[in-house]
This record gives sequence, C-alpha cells and structure tokens, in this order.
Amino acid sequence: MSKSISENTGGARLHTKILRGLLAGAALGILANTQLGGKHPLVEWVNHFVAGPAGQVFLRMLFMIVMPLVFSSIALGVAGLGDLRKVGRVGGKAVAYFLATTFLAAATGLVFVNVFKPGDGLAPAVKVELMQTYAGDASAKINTSKEGGFGVHTFVNIVTRNPLKSAVEGDMLGVIFFGLVFGAALTLIPPAKAKPMTELLDSLNEVVISIVGMAMKLAPYGVTALIFGVTSRFGFALLLPLSGYVLVVLGALLFHAGVNMSLVLRFLVGISPALFFSRTRSAIVTAFSTSSSSATLPTALGAAEQGLGIPPQIAGFVLPLGSTMCMNGTSIFEGITAIFLCQVFGVDLTLGQMTVVVVMAVITAVGAAGVPGGSIPLLVGILAMFGVPGEGIAIILGVDRILDMSRTAVNVYGDISATAYVARSEKLWSASKVPGLRQVPELAPEKA
Ligand code: ASP
Repeated sequence: MSKSISENTGGARLHTKILRGLLAGAALGILANTQLGGKHPLVEWVNHFVAGPAGQVFLRMLFMIVMPLVFSSIALGVAGLGDLRKVGRVGGKAVAYFLATTFLAAATGLVFVNVFKPGDGLAPAVKVELMQTYAGDASAKINTSKEGGFGVHTFVNIVTRNPLKSAVEGDMLGVIFFGLVFGAALTLIPPAKAKPMTELLDSLNEVVISIVGMAMKLAPYGVTALIFGVTSRFGFALLLPLSGYVLVVLGALLFHAGVNMSLVLRFLVGISPALFFSRTRSAIVTAFSTSSSSATLPTALGAAEQGLGIPPQIAGFVLPLGSTMCMNGTSIFEGITAIFLCQVFGVDLTLGQMTVVVVMAVITAVGAAGVPGGSIPLLVGILAMFGVPGEGIAIILGVDRILDMSRTAVNVYGDISATAYVARSEKLWSASKVPGLRQVPELAPEKA
C-alpha cells in the first residue's frame, strides 16, 4: 500500500512550512497591493516572471498525476475486493455502507456550504476581476453544462468512448468509470492472470503517490507564489472569507461525526455512540495527528479488534478497504471546498451541477489515497470541471493542515463504524461483545 507519510510529504513540519508560505505570500502580496497597487509595473513584472511561473510549476505537478492517480486507485480499490463472487456479500455490504455514509457526509457538506455561503463575503467586483484575471489559466476546463445542462446525457457521457481521450481531455468521470470497470474485470479473470496487472497498478499507484509527495514538497514555495499572485492583485478582499470557510468545514465535520454518525451507530450498528467513541479514541487521535488513514490502519485494527471485540476476519477485510475507500470527512471537505471556490470565483452552480459536485465528492473520496493531502490532486480535478482556475487551490492550501487532520479523524471514525456494521449484520458481533475497560487496559490511560 502507500508509503509512510513522512516519506511522502515530509510529515507535520511540511504543513507548518506551507502555512508559513501562505502567510509570507499573503503579507508580501498585501504589502505590494497597498503600497504600489495591483497594476503597478513592478508588481506585474514579479507576477509575470517570478510568482506566476513558480506557482504554475507546483500546480502542474498536481494536474500531471490526477488521471493516473484516479485510474490506479479506483481500479485497485475495486480489485481489492478480491473475487467478487466469493467475498461478494461482505464486500458488498461494506461498500454499500461506505457509499451511503460518504454520500450522507457529502450532502451534509452541501447543506452547510449553501446555508453559510462562506464564499459570498467577496465583493462582486472582485469576483468578476478574479474570473477575468485567471480565465485563461483554467486548464483542463470541462464544463459539465457544455452539452446542454444536466440530464440523461450527463450519465451516458460517464460511459467513456475512449478512456485515453478522457484522460487527455481531463474528463475525470470517464476515467473513473473506466477504472471501476477495469477493477471489476480484474476480479473476474483467473487470479494468476490478474496478478501481474494488479501488481503493475499497485506499483503505478505507489509511483503516483510518491509524485504527490514531491509536489507537496514544492507546496510551501508554490503556495507563497500563488498566494502572492492573488493578494498582490486583490489585497485583503480574498483572505477574509477564508476563516468562514474553515469554520464551515469544521462545523460540517463535527455535525457529521456528532449527529449523523451517532444516529447511524445507534440505529444501524446498535451501539451507544459514547461507548463506540471511548473504544476507538486511540485511532481517532492517531488519525488526527498523522492526517493519514493508511498510517492509522494498525491503530484502527487494534481499536476494532481489542477495543470493540470485532472478529479479526471482518476487521482485517473491511478496515484496509475502508482506509482507502471510505472517506466521509474527505467528501465533506471536497464538496464544501469545490462549492466555496466556485462562490469565490463567481461560478454560479445550478442545482444539477451541485448534484454533480456531491457525486464527484463521493467518488473522489473513494479514489483519494489515505495520505496527508491525498485528496488535493482530485480536488484540483473537480475544480477544473467547473472552470475554477487551479490558483483557487492556493487559497485553501495554507489552512489545509487543520482541515486534513480533522477530516482524517472523521474518515477513520467512519471506517471503524463500517467494520462494526458489517460484523453485526453478519451476526458475528454485537454491542454486548464489547470488552470491559479492564480487559483492554491500554484504552483506559487514565488508570495506567
Ligand atoms: N488525509 C486524508 C486521509 O488520509 C485524505 C485526504 O482527504 O487528503 O484520510
């Protein structure tokens, strides 16, 4: 699976550097804007020859890997289910639960972002100017409405005619569909024939994740450059809505974990949310501090098996799948961020397009790698679908550390709940099997 997070992204210190980059870029940009003005020749020169190119290199590193990343992770995720016929029932239940909770999460995000509209604090004139300034840069722009709005053809078009053409044109849905079919087909052919292809995909996935790591190493400089480009042109106007955005994401994550998941736990899993939380706390804290579902997998297995008493054959099957496929928190983040940036860049979304955002948030959450910032390249892909320029990503990347930590905690909470759900529905576990705290002393550190 994925490499350790420190290999990929340099760990927590990198995020501090990105935040510093954001602050430095913003401070310099605002200084330039207030002292010289956004259209001063020197500011334009710096943007044209220094900040612009540096930011573009970083963005292009992310764009470069979107398609192989989407294809390899989706195909591997589906192929990871193994023989679809044999593990069909357990795998099917797990995937249905993953999709249902991820969809619930994305829908919650959609409600939050539409009620609180964090991107609307921006003056209309700034939005218009933003669009004009960055219109030419919206690479891989695929407007979902280009073929006459949202309708039956939206779904027919998902079935790509030519996956290579889809990849070249940045048609993410087409590539996702091809990945799904490819992964499913891998489970249908004899294992000996499927093995080399699965290994190839696994290796492709590792390579691409390692490129995410390289891109993230450039992030502190890329973000400085991109944010300088934006703030030197627009001054303060663009930074203020950011705190609203962060609060909306955190609020939606908290609501999903505290309200939605409590209802799911009580009524579908049959366990008190307080008991469930107390036994999974170690995994949640690990997820929060590592920002990586993959890195949290061993702790999550421990919490599920020892803390909740779930049989290893279920936990060992459902949790690894969940750590890459079930990302409730990520879908909240992707949906809110995509719509927030559309609001910021003045892109008005119709109800149909919002539905597409929710669907994309769910699918990309399934496809995101469980590493820090694993969902960022996919987010860039969603933004391109709606004609939001890649620069938009710079606006949120500086605050992404805290959002990544929080969404990963929600992701892992969802993974373990999926395990409990499947174990219960297979009649292999119930809340009465949860061991007392004395049997799992490591879960009660206050007594140690
Ligand atoms: N860091 C997340 C995880 O590992 C993925 C993401 O949303 O970036 O679960």
